[in-house]
Amino acid sequence: MELTLLGTGCPSVDHKRFGPSNLVSTKTAKILIDCGSGITQRLNELKVSSANIDALLFTHLHSDHAVDLYQLIISSWHSYRIKPWKIYGPQGTKKFVNKIMDAWADERKLRISYEARASAKAFDIEVIEFKALGNFKIKDLQIKYFEVDHKPVKFAYGFCFIHKNKKLTISGDTRPCENLMKYAQKSDVLLHEVFIEGEIIEINKMRTQKTMHNVQSYHTTSSQVGKVAFISRAKKLVLTHFVPTKFNKKNLKKVIKKDFGKDPIIGEDLMTIKI
Ligand SMILES: [Zn+2]
Ligand SMILES: [Zn+2]
Repeated sequence: MELTLLGTGCPSVDHKRFGPSNLVSTKTAKILIDCGSGITQRLNELKVSSANIDALLFTHLHSDHAVDLYQLIISSWHSYRIKPWKIYGPQGTKKFVNKIMDAWADERKLRISYEARASAKAFDIEVIEFKALGNFKIKDLQIKYFEVDHKPVKFAYGFCFIHKNKKLTISGDTRPCENLMKYAQKSDVLLHEVFIEGEIIEINKMRTQKTMHNVQSYHTTSSQVGKVAFISRAKKLVLTHFVPTKFNKKNLKKVIKKDFGKDPIIGEDLMTIKI
């Protein structure tokens, strides 16, 4: 199994760190996790066609993780996708997908009839909403989903992918939480979000102390993530979803190594990790 980081950023715009999204693939399966800003450009750089994606999984419906959904679907149609989309996500995903599709319905109708392409299957979307905990299979990948703590977001999930006795865990957006550490146990790779302390400077009055405190408190900080990985007994820790997107890498590694006992991998867009 392979994990490719398509976007390692956050809501802030950064041309080196696109919006959060990842690709998990095996010889037969290709699964996207989230579709942040720039996902189709990154897939294109990777030479992966959106026509061949088996499913899209949402960790949660924050805009930085979902904003390029329509771009993904329309570009898959342009790439001659001939099969329906399968989208898995939290409660509310059906409503969200329907509203996005509805916003573009008139434009799409006109385009479909005028461009007369062979298939419009890319616009058939099956949405499967998560319960609190569950398992499903896509081709040769076994997937487990579980709730994480990103409150006030009501429904946020992490995922485990199992393939040939190897385990990859993706944290999604979360503050440190028991469930994540329970399901991430002995992962070969733990892909975890991080909020880097001391790197955001309060530059103007628009960013208040309260904003800073609230943003930090529903993520996992640089002084917590090494402990989370240690308790989870992860073999490898890969970091993503950097808040902020620019920071001192050496310092971050040092802080985390103290808790984790090993160097973490600082994720970069288009980095591929074999698991
Ligand atoms: Zn979020
Ligand atoms: Zn996020």
